[in-house]
Amino acid sequence: MAILNIEKYGSKILRQKSKHVDKITKDIKLLAKDMVETMYFAKGVGLAAPQVGQLLRFCVIDVSQDQKSPIVMINPEIVFGEDKKILNEGCLSIPEFYEKVKRFDKVIANYTDLDGSKKEVKAQGVLAVAIQHEVDHLDAKLFIDYLPDFKRKVIEKEIKRKKKAGNW
Ligand SMILES: [Zn+2]
Repeated sequence: MAILNIEKYGSKILRQKSKHVDKITKDIKLLAKDMVETMYFAKGVGLAAPQVGQLLRFCVIDVSQDQKSPIVMINPEIVFGEDKKILNEGCLSIPEFYEKVKRFDKVIANYTDLDGSKKEVKAQGVLAVAIQHEVDHLDAKLFIDYLPDFKRKVIEKEIKRKKKAGNW
């Protein structure tokens, strides 16, 4: 197992679409394990493959308190969403920035697990938000894309400053 490097905002890979996972290989299983470990190490509740430099449609999520129940979602797809709510959101690729984002409070998602079984999850609240956030990553979308222009520009400026100072 290994702690992987997390790509940060500005990295081109975060703006590229991920490819469908056709086969759950040994490498995918190992990558999933490393991603779970990396997510816990970084104190996140979700991590998508492109965030660790792999353009593959899968992600890991764990919104539990004890962080012992990771869900590995391969080829996740949101098939239903309702009840929009505003929650504070952050991202391991945009560390230290938290903003309010409006998303579905309830979603149903289909995915394949590491054993190749088809699963369906009915999620609400933080888990529903995490699923939407991670699936967005697979489509090259980031949470700051939902913010009003002026807010996003403030964040981009701040990141530029951090980069100059070598803190990014
Ligand atoms: Zn993220």
